[in-house]
Amino acid sequence: MTQIQRARDGEITPAMERVAERENRDPEFVRRQVADGQAVIPNNHAHDALDPMIIGREFSTKVNANIGNSEETSDLDAELRKLHAAVHYGADTVMDLSTGERLDETRAANVAYSPVPIGTVPIYEAVKRAADPAEITHELLLDVIEKQAEQGVDYMTIHAGVLLEHLPLTDGRKTGIVSRGGSILAQWIEENGMQNPLYAKFEEICEILAEHDVTVSLGDGLRPGCLADASDEAQFAELDTLGELTRVAWDHGVQVMVEGPGHVPMDEIADNVDRQQEACDGAPFYVLGPLVTDIAPGYDHITSAIGATEAARAGAAMLCYVTPKEHLGLPDAEDVRDGLAAYRIAAHAADVANGLPGARDWDDALSEARYEFDWARQFDLALDPERARSYHDQTLPGDNYKEARFCSMCGAEFCSMRIDQDARDADGEMTAIDAETAATDLDASAAAAVNVPPVGTHDASRVPDEIEIGGVTFTPETGHADD
Ligand code: SF4
Repeated sequence: MTQIQRARDGEITPAMERVAERENRDPEFVRRQVADGQAVIPNNHAHDALDPMIIGREFSTKVNANIGNSEETSDLDAELRKLHAAVHYGADTVMDLSTGERLDETRAANVAYSPVPIGTVPIYEAVKRAADPAEITHELLLDVIEKQAEQGVDYMTIHAGVLLEHLPLTDGRKTGIVSRGGSILAQWIEENGMQNPLYAKFEEICEILAEHDVTVSLGDGLRPGCLADASDEAQFAELDTLGELTRVAWDHGVQVMVEGPGHVPMDEIADNVDRQQEACDGAPFYVLGPLVTDIAPGYDHITSAIGATEAARAGAAMLCYVTPKEHLGLPDAEDVRDGLAAYRIAAHAADVANGLPGARDWDDALSEARYEFDWARQFDLALDPERARSYHDQTLPGDNYKEARFCSMCGAEFCSMRIDQDARDADGEMTAIDAETAATDLDASAAAAVNVPPVGTHDASRVPDEIEIGGVTFTPETGHADD
């Protein structure tokens, strides 16, 4: 049975207990959220290394990192390093979007090593297995989905909302159909003159997903690829279909989340979130960005993190990160790090703004360390401690500077915090700030288990020490998912 079926039966499962502990929430509240389809716990029965987590607007905002090989680069060891970087820098889920060689082995390795849920887009493998995308059959699609479910994939993007009748609605667009899955299915529909096979076979797909408790992530194959195409008829026609499919999946006992755009001007983002929540009866919204401007290739982790913050503020439950390589090339491990930092900031900023209990404690603790010139604690509390430390040490590397009442930004003479402290100590009008009473106890924070540094508070104890894939043994040194 799936988490939603068990929740509807009134059962609080071990996975619900665990996410309640991580989120500092009442297990019964978690059960109700899952039963009502307002939150999902992606949790394939075969994913042994998983530490369960929850995605829903009532919980901390989650971040997904996409990794995966391409035809140009298909190195399994490099993929495991990307998984490692993604989990290390705080990804709550990871999507394996591989389209190159050794797809089965890459997926198996990712599932075996990942303490966070693994997502996939099965249509990619179907394309690789068919001689021509137009020759993908219903049977092949079901076969791919079933095999990936058996391998332990926790959630799958299924682009079942791209319908034959929607395609003419994209004709006036500036950038057409930009979703990989959406463009493949549009080509299939055009060449075969038939309805989207994922839509035609959706009930059978749901039966497979329910058997393994794979969460369906309803893909937005007609998402806008530029600001000019945002919120158009094609996008919203597909969204209405996704609402219909949400209810079909729920009827089959499948957990559902719904994917969203893309490229959206700032002033349209909240309306997009509201519209999805209404069309899909509150199913968790999983947004890609959105990018709020199209002018900054090379910096799209920033353009999209701005939109992601706005989306999370309005109720999106999970943010799919974008790296600096978006639109330009396949991200490497350093891009994964930069993209995750941008998105952890977006998720946290929204949690603070939305008043998630305890979310701001982390900010307060770091600010206290900063004002105290406790450089070691400031680094430890930083979202990316290694980067904070290395930037500081670029100009003031000596140990003596770890106790200095200034850094090189303003210098000793102009350090405003040093000047402020001296003025307070001068026994004048200003009251000194008492560091003792100001201290925030992060261990006692209401968000302790989900929202303290280092980000990514999964339990990796079930991740194996080594696995064998294709005759090669992988160990923690080559691809462990946590350290
Ligand atoms: S020198 Fe400026 S930036 Fe550095 S600690 Fe002082 S106030 Fe902050």
